[in-house]
Amino acid sequence: MLKLRFDNAFVRELPGDPESGARLRQVEGALYSRVDPTPVAAPVLLAHSREMAATLGLGEGDVCSPEFAQVFGGNALLDGMQPYAANYGGHQFGHWAGQLGDGRAIALGEVINAAGERWELQLKGAGPTPYSRSADGRAVLRSSIREFLCSEAMYHLGVPTTRALSLVGTGESVLRDMFYDGHAAPEPGAIVCRVAPSFLRFGNFELPASRGDTALLRQLVEFTIRRDFPELQGGGESIYAEWFGQVCERTAVMVAHWMRVGFVHGVMNTDNMSILGLTIDYGPYGWVDNYDPDWTPNTTDAQRRRYRFGQQPDVAWWNLSRLAGALAPLFGSIEPLQAGLDRYAAAYAAADRANAAAKLGLAQCRDDDVALMQSLQALLQQAEIDMTRWFRALAEVDAQAPTLQPFADAFYDEAKRRAAEPALSDWLARYAARLRDDPLPPASRRETMNQANPRYVLRNYLAQQAIDRATQGDTGGIEALLDLMRRPYDDQPGREAFAQKRPDWARHKAGCSMLSCSS
Ligand code: AMP
Ligand code: MG
Repeated sequence: MLKLRFDNAFVRELPGDPESGARLRQVEGALYSRVDPTPVAAPVLLAHSREMAATLGLGEGDVCSPEFAQVFGGNALLDGMQPYAANYGGHQFGHWAGQLGDGRAIALGEVINAAGERWELQLKGAGPTPYSRSADGRAVLRSSIREFLCSEAMYHLGVPTTRALSLVGTGESVLRDMFYDGHAAPEPGAIVCRVAPSFLRFGNFELPASRGDTALLRQLVEFTIRRDFPELQGGGESIYAEWFGQVCERTAVMVAHWMRVGFVHGVMNTDNMSILGLTIDYGPYGWVDNYDPDWTPNTTDAQRRRYRFGQQPDVAWWNLSRLAGALAPLFGSIEPLQAGLDRYAAAYAAADRANAAAKLGLAQCRDDDVALMQSLQALLQQAEIDMTRWFRALAEVDAQAPTLQPFADAFYDEAKRRAAEPALSDWLARYAARLRDDPLPPASRRETMNQANPRYVLRNYLAQQAIDRATQGDTGGIEALLDLMRRPYDDQPGREAFAQKRPDWARHKAGCSMLSCSS
C-alpha cells in the first residue's frame, strides 16, 4: 500500500468553489474548484524520477507497484488526497486574458515528507476541469516526455524548477492538430505527476485583483506568506512589500540561470510564472544550440518573438510589474512595489555578473568583463557557434598560448567560421590577457567554469529522439536522457555523442527546432 502523509493547507484554508465537478464556468470569489481526475483506460508507468520518489519517501517497490500507476494515472486516490483545479488568470502575449485556471492540471494534495518539507502533487493531463474551456484536459505523450525530462534535467543543472515524479501512459489516444494546420491526428496520451512546494502563479493573484476582489487577494497573499515564506513573520504592508521583493529576487535568480544554461521557456505568460521563482509549465521550451538571442522554439510566437532567448530578463520584469499592479490595492502607495521591481533589476544585474565571472572563469566580474562577455556573445551569434560547446571548451584555453583549437567542433557554418576567425582570435587574445591578470589558480578556474558551463543539456533533438523511440513503445531513450542529465557538469566517458552539436537534419525539423503551444 502506498502511504503518504497529506496536509492540504490550500483547500483547507482558502475559499473554494461551492460547485464541484468539471462543468465549464466562471468561478468568482473562490481560488479553486474541487474536481477529480477522469479515469483512463490502461495506465502504465513509463518513467519515474527515483530522486523525487525518494524525497517523498517512496521506494522503487512503491513506484513499480500496480497501485502507483493507478493513482498517478488518475484512476484512484490515496487516503488524504483532495483533488482540485486552481483558479487563476493571466497576461498572455502581453494581453490580459481573464480567467484561465488549471484546464488540464489537477492537484492531488500536499505531502509532508520525513524531513518536514511540503511537496504538492499535481497531475498534468488528468482530464477536464471547470477551466478546460474548449480543450480536452489531456496531454500527449510527446509533450509529457518533454516536461518530465526537462523538469529533472533543470533540477540537476541547479536551476530552480518544479519537479516530475512520474510519467504514466494512459492507454488512450488524444486528438491533436500539431501544427494548427487543420490536420488533427490521434496521438498517445500521458500524464506527468509534477511536484513543487507550491504551484501558485502570478495569475492566481491577478485574477481576484482584476475582479476588484481585494479581500480574496489579501487572503491569498497572507496564505502564501504564511505557508511558503514562513521566515516572513507578521502581516501588513511592510511584510507584503518584503514578500514581493523576495518574489522579484527569486525570479531574477531563475531567469539568470536560464541565460546561463541556454534555456528558452517559450511561453512566459504570467500564468506560467511561479510565485516561488521556479521554472514552471514546460511547453514549447527549447535549448539554444547556436547562440542566438533572437531564437524562440515557439511557433505560436514566431512572428513577434516576444519570448525569445535574449528577451527573457526583460519579460520577467514586465511580468513582475503586472504582479505589482495586481498587488497595488493592498498598498497605500506604489513606492514599495517600485522598490521590489528595483530589487529585481539589482538581483538580475548581480546574477548576470556572477554568470559572466563563472562562465569565463574569473575570480570576479569587473566592469570591463561585462564588455568582454558582450563582445563574445556578439561573435557567437554572428559566427553561429554552439553555446554549450563553446563555453565548455573555454576551460581548455591555455592563457599563455591561446588558440581556437578547443572550439573546432562548435561551429555550424564553415563560411561563417572562416569569416569570424580573425575576430575570434582577437577576442581570445584579450581573454587570455585577462586570465593572466586574474588571481584564480588554473585548477580552481577550471572547476568553477565546469560548474557553470554544462557539458550536457537536454538538446531539442535529443528529446525528440527519445520521443520517437517511446512512440514506438521503447522507453529506453527516456531512461538514457534522464540518467545522462543526472550529472550534466561531468564529462561522462562513452556518452560523448550526447554532447555533440545539433546535427544538420535537426535544424528545421518539428520537435527539434519548433514547437507549438499547448499540446
Ligand atoms: P499553457 O499554454 O499550457 O500554459 O496553457 C494555457 C491555458 O490553457 C491554461 O489555463 C491551461 O490549463 C489551458 N490548457 C492548455 N491545454 C489544455 C488542454 N489540453 N485541456 C484543457 N486546458 C488546457
Ligand atoms: Mg500554463
